[in-house]
Amino acid sequence: MAKFNKNDNRRSNIPSSNSSNKKEGPKVSNGVFVYNKEMTLGELSKQLNIPASNIIKFLFMNKKMVTINQTLDDDTIGEICLEFGYDFKKEKIVSEENFEELDIVDKPEDLLPRPPVVTIMGHVDHGKTTLIDAIRNSNLVAKEVGGISQAIGAYQKEIDGQKITFLDTPGHEAFTAMRSRGASVTDIVVLVVAADDGVMPQTIEAIDHAKAANVPIIVAVNKIDKEGANTEKIRNELMAYDIIPEEYGGDTIFCDISAKKQIGIKQLLEAILVTAEILELKANPNRFAIGTVIEANLDKGEGPKATLLVQNGTLSFQDYVVVGTAYGKIRRMSNEHRATLKVATPSTPVSVIGLSEVPNAGDKFMAFPTERQARDIAFKRALAKKEETQNATSARSLDDLYNRIHEGEVQDINVILKCDTNGSAEAIKASLEKLSNDQVHIKVIHASAGAITESDIMLASAGNAIIYGFNVRPSSMISQKAEQEKVEIRLYQIIYDLLNEMQDAMKGMLKKEKVEQVTGQAEVRTTIKISKVGTIAGCYITSGTIKANSMIRLLRNGVITYTGKIASLKRFKDDAKEVREGFECGISIENFNDIKEMDIIEGYEMVEKA
Ligand code: GDP
Repeated sequence: MAKFNKNDNRRSNIPSSNSSNKKEGPKVSNGVFVYNKEMTLGELSKQLNIPASNIIKFLFMNKKMVTINQTLDDDTIGEICLEFGYDFKKEKIVSEENFEELDIVDKPEDLLPRPPVVTIMGHVDHGKTTLIDAIRNSNLVAKEVGGISQAIGAYQKEIDGQKITFLDTPGHEAFTAMRSRGASVTDIVVLVVAADDGVMPQTIEAIDHAKAANVPIIVAVNKIDKEGANTEKIRNELMAYDIIPEEYGGDTIFCDISAKKQIGIKQLLEAILVTAEILELKANPNRFAIGTVIEANLDKGEGPKATLLVQNGTLSFQDYVVVGTAYGKIRRMSNEHRATLKVATPSTPVSVIGLSEVPNAGDKFMAFPTERQARDIAFKRALAKKEETQNATSARSLDDLYNRIHEGEVQDINVILKCDTNGSAEAIKASLEKLSNDQVHIKVIHASAGAITESDIMLASAGNAIIYGFNVRPSSMISQKAEQEKVEIRLYQIIYDLLNEMQDAMKGMLKKEKVEQVTGQAEVRTTIKISKVGTIAGCYITSGTIKANSMIRLLRNGVITYTGKIASLKRFKDDAKEVREGFECGISIENFNDIKEMDIIEGYEMVEKA
């Protein structure tokens, strides 16, 4: 039962009146094709009133082989519209189910300042981790609440009575996807550049992420304690990337620090607060929380455990939260010092327990006042996801995929990925998707940490997906269920094996190049002409085998005189399927009678090369 607190005057994020605006089907108006979700080629052809064959032809000319029942992505829909003289527009359907898209507007009088959310980025070995630790452990305030700190992917630091929220971002290249998502919850990026090194590839990548997300950068020039440290050189190098120091008339604050020796840390934190003040970061604490999953994993004892960053509103103990297609009641909420919290205001990271599934880092969450609302919305989201994946064309086993590609279709391989940790899920997902090419597209429709569950099987079944398990094993009940649903589960313990097998499958799937393979040769010893049948060559097989259904070439003095097929292959009077080396046989060739003694009949087949 939902416990309603009389003092709880938080507003729901979803106004009850306008709970979902009506979905309208696609239509053409004033030469603009307006639609709101992906559709099959057949549907598009109907909507635009253009024969499907014309569309297929156009796509074929553009090297895309698409069948009428295949779902088109937005890019392809756009291309088709333009080709056939339509403009196009995709409308967003905003309803309670896709709360990620909701435009939450607060009245200015309801807004209160909130702490900035900071991400530390930079090239490997430039000192990100050391800086994170230096800030975490710096004793800026005398009393720190709670006990031993735990890594929850984010933490808050207080300076001069003001809080700053820091996200710990992993630095590995495979995590770029997550980091770029990380940037969208970030208000300020602290870019660490080692003074004894310089601007490096990941420095530039970090600058690009920050710029793309329109997030201001503060540069922390690190390792100034080292010999050979040159802070001026760093300033000069960064100017090439439009990062101009304040002292040179630009708008970027540079702080010279030593993370290792704890020099300049306080100044850096002050610079963050100054930047935050300019940004006027505000939120409305009087609404139900909305925010992002920072990190999540499956805790052996406690079940799914997630670090949530509250971005607007207030998250309360016992709130109902929807994230992904799951919902749950917050059973416990704590900060990085393991102190239990009753409420978490905007910009507060909290570790929560009570979700029914392990969510993905980067997922949005929303809190609801009642269980019914949360459950309904989670259910609708699950349905929508099922519908979406059902539309995707694919096959459920790797073998099936081989067959499908022979039909020349563009293939999507749908994959559900279940791993031991979210980190590996993210990394494998990114690597798998990178394997996609022009003809085969790998789509990870779900990736998360945790065991393979019944709902994964259902999702795989609906979405024609293959389940890849990494360091997880299905229970026998789940294996049975998978068998019933004809869902393939593939298990791996080494990422390399997983990627290799996928690559092999794709090679099998790619339109195979055909190469000819000679099966054998026969020498013509005599010829007999039979009226109405033609010439029959009495042959001796000199090598390999000659097969009744294979292609043949007639060689005369080493020159190909004819290429065709065998009409009949006989041993004595009986038809033979094949005749091997050292045996005699009679061969007649389809539509060809000019066979002479000493000709060579060479049998060959076209085989596919992987
Ligand atoms: P990350 O890969 O960016 O997280 O870099 P780390 O924090 O792991 O640091 C890489 C190396 O640089 C480690 O050996 C650190 O001890 C060292 N380091 C980091 N900050 C400083 C600093 O301010 N001065 C010196 N001398 N070494 C540092």
